[in-house]
Amino acid sequence: MRYHNITKDDMLNGDGLRVVLWVAGCSHCCKGCQNPMTWDPDGGLEFDDKAKAEIFEQLDKPYIEGITFSGGDPLHSANRDGVKALMREIKEKYPNKNIWLYTGDSWERIMRYPLLQYVDILVDGEFVQDKKDNNLLWKGSSNQRVIDVQATLAQEDISVPILHCGDYDDIPMGRETAGTNKNIVCFNQASVKKNACDVKVY
Ligand code: SF4
Repeated sequence: MRYHNITKDDMLNGDGLRVVLWVAGCSHCCKGCQNPMTWDPDGGLEFDDKAKAEIFEQLDKPYIEGITFSGGDPLHSANRDGVKALMREIKEKYPNKNIWLYTGDSWERIMRYPLLQYVDILVDGEFVQDKKDNNLLWKGSSNQRVIDVQATLAQEDISVPILHCGDYDDIPMGRETAGTNKNIVCFNQASVKKNACDVKVY
């Protein structure tokens, strides 16, 4: 696995303050992608022990809520094994931190991937320029979905995703509307949220 950056105290790619790993490699070629330089799986740097230690140093901090995997696409074939191994290690070492994953793939295509056992929230789908909306919560275009992975996988029919939150921060959705008594409250956004694929920091 290769990567372009590790960003810290990030508020734009998931609930709370987070560390974000931006991996190299994406084959979706979305029109309007802000960073086609991330498409090459051979680009960036090798993800080595030093990079892992940098992430763990962030996760050691009590105020860091979790890690977000973005890119590029963490589910690109060049990344899947490395991402899965890192997720497993993080869940063992930091059971109270959550894991978010951004991918250009749709839930229906990847819903049986074993690594999803480690993912709390998944933002799925390619970035579609015609559906771009800067006010969307945690995503860049309205076709994308912010999915509560574990709630979805707990259902009999996993092909119907349960959303973690609605399109905008004033529309509560998620497990609450799915009939369970777990009340998912999206982080109260003090800042404008952007799609990880739409806006990146390098
Ligand atoms: S927007 Fe995201 S999924 Fe689409 S090409 Fe760019 S990095 Fe890949």
